[in-house]
Formats: sequence, C-alpha cells, structure tokens
Amino acid sequence: MPINNMNLTNFRVRGSRRFHSPVERLYHAYKRPHMIIARCNRCEHHISFRPNEILGMVFDEQSGGYTLLKGDICGAIKGRGACTNCGYITNLIHWPQAAYIQVTVPGGMVWAWSQDLLSALRARIGGDKVQLRRMLLGNPDLARFVNRIPKAALLTKNRARLLYKLKEFERELSK
Ligand SMILES: [Zn+2]
Repeated sequence: MPINNMNLTNFRVRGSRRFHSPVERLYHAYKRPHMIIARCNRCEHHISFRPNEILGMVFDEQSGGYTLLKGDICGAIKGRGACTNCGYITNLIHWPQAAYIQVTVPGGMVWAWSQDLLSALRARIGGDKVQLRRMLLGNPDLARFVNRIPKAALLTKNRARLLYKLKEFERELSK
C-alpha cells in the first residue's frame, strides 16, 4: 500500500510539471458547460440540454503523467434534453447548428452556449468593459469563451444587428 501511494504522488507531480503555467493548462482543457441551451427540432422552443461528461484527461504511460485532451468542442454532442413546450426528447445535438442563441452575420455565425455566455457576449460586443470585467472575474471558462469570439462578431458594421438579436434572445429566455 505505501508503495502504491508513493507512485500516485509521483504521477501527479510529474503530470503537473508538463505545464509551464496554469493559464496554458486552462486554455487547453477540453470542456463544455454543464448546461447548453439548444433549439427544439420540432417546435423551435429552447431546450435545456445536459451534455454527457467528456473525458478531460488521459493517463500517459510513457511519461507516467496525465495529459489534458485537446479537442473540438463543437460537432456531435451526446446528452439529454427535453422540450418543455412540446415534449420532444433529444439525446444528440449538432453544435453550433443546434444553438438556440445564434445570429448569422456577414462573415460568420455567432453563438453562445447559454444565458450567462449570452450576457458576456453582449457586453463584449457592446464594448461595456466594466460589466465584462466584472463578469470575467474568477471565471476562466467565461474568459476563454470571450477570447474566442469570432472576428465577424466584433466588426462595427455587424454590431447593431448583433446587439439587437442578442437582446431578443435574452428577453425570450427570461420569460
Ligand atoms: Zn419543442
């Protein structure tokens, strides 16, 4: 038993040394929110979709440490969601096509996983720096999302349409 415990400790130390900074470690973490707002296939109402946990780390036999998995967080997402409007049940969605919060602008599609990300998106696009800083404080997941907002979303010519649409989503979701 003591030997096993010692080995485990070694693995952990070696694993964490592979990252030079905690920021780098966070940036590569393969992660989705625990709750996603999707659009119902049948009635277009919003659905709270709970994605299955995805494996974030894998044991690396060669180094004896754990490696964080990097990956595309979009694509097919398994999980479970039920529409409160029509009763439709879904176990698989395709992201970002299934995003309830989505706006197409010249140059791309802008989307958000959920309501708190929607608020951050609005603050970022609207240039509300004070509000944004308050939201991002101690929330690395939100910061990561905001840092990856597509360029098309930040173009001045797209701003008015985006802000208008995002506000509409916020209103519908808070009903
Ligand atoms: Zn529905």
